[in-house]
Amino acid sequence: MVGEPVKRWKCAYKACEALCCRMERELTLKDIREISKAAGKKVEDFVQVKPNRRGAVPFTLKRKRGRCVFLQENFQCQLHPLGAKPSLCRIYPFLLSRVIYGDEPILEVRPAQDCPGIGRGPRFGEEAVKTVAESAKNYLEGLREVVKLSRRGLKPEEILEKLEAA
Ligand code: SF4
Ligand code: SF4
Repeated sequence: MVGEPVKRWKCAYKACEALCCRMERELTLKDIREISKAAGKKVEDFVQVKPNRRGAVPFTLKRKRGRCVFLQENFQCQLHPLGAKPSLCRIYPFLLSRVIYGDEPILEVRPAQDCPGIGRGPRFGEEAVKTVAESAKNYLEGLREVVKLSRRGLKPEEILEKLEAA
């Protein structure tokens, strides 16, 4: 993983009214499995089939009134205490900017410019960097899983059906 570092960060979700939870968020199949199990939800309750800009992962979190379906009225994430947040939510305050393919693919991340928590709070130390790197890696593995199934000719809806049946 490469990218510009963040020196300090503290999520200020009340101040920004969970700004990042209003954006489109891709889901890997692992994310979907974990959320479904932890939150006891059916896949159709929170997954939307939508090809994204990069055209790789066609699953995103459903939104209601422009906000993630798991965002509560107090701006807290329902999945956070369940330990089931999607990989791309765990890489905050970074955004995935691109994947550089090679023998060992490299994920490039960049700080989310509009995140008001950047520059505040404790030092963004090794543990936090490790979490971001692991989550980015999980996302990449998830991406590969979807690509593999798509190459077998499965449509996104069929992939979800297989998940539901598993
Ligand atoms: S990560 Fe940043 S943008 Fe997202 S809720 Fe926290 S402070 Fe707001
Ligand atoms: S899953 Fe949680 S952190 Fe991720 S967008 Fe939804 S409310 Fe925000």
